[in-house]
Amino acid sequence: MTDTRWNGEPCQARRITALVADDARFPAYWARHLAGTRRHLVEVEYGGETFYLDDEDGSGWHKVTHGGSPRWAHSNITIKPDSIQPVLTCSSAHFLHPHGPHSWEPQPGMDPVYCEGYSQPAAPQPAKAHANRTDDMAS
Ligand SMILES: [Zn+2]
Repeated sequence: MTDTRWNGEPCQARRITALVADDARFPAYWARHLAGTRRHLVEVEYGGETFYLDDEDGSGWHKVTHGGSPRWAHSNITIKPDSIQPVLTCSSAHFLHPHGPHSWEPQPGMDPVYCEGYSQPAAPQPAKAHANRTDDMAS
């Protein structure tokens, strides 16, 4: 496992994707215009709390794998908890077959994970392409 730290102390961290949620606590919430979109994030468990860092540019993962010190900038983000999907590449990516990002199940019936794809991503596809998404569509 990768050594991950927050303020220099060991923490649990993993790369995920999730849907961004609005956060009424912050009038100037930086990610408000992103609410409802799926983003790459880092989930951090530290000091009995779980929080999320934006990782769309890799800054979140960079921070926790470089000691988690304040000198690495980060952007906290609020998400819909039931939309979390771990990031795990599929066997096609391991065998270096170019393909686009997709969701898949490591074993039938397991929770879906997200594969970033490999090399040139395929053309953008509508989000409703994934039939196993059931949350937040009706409301
Ligand atoms: Zn894949």
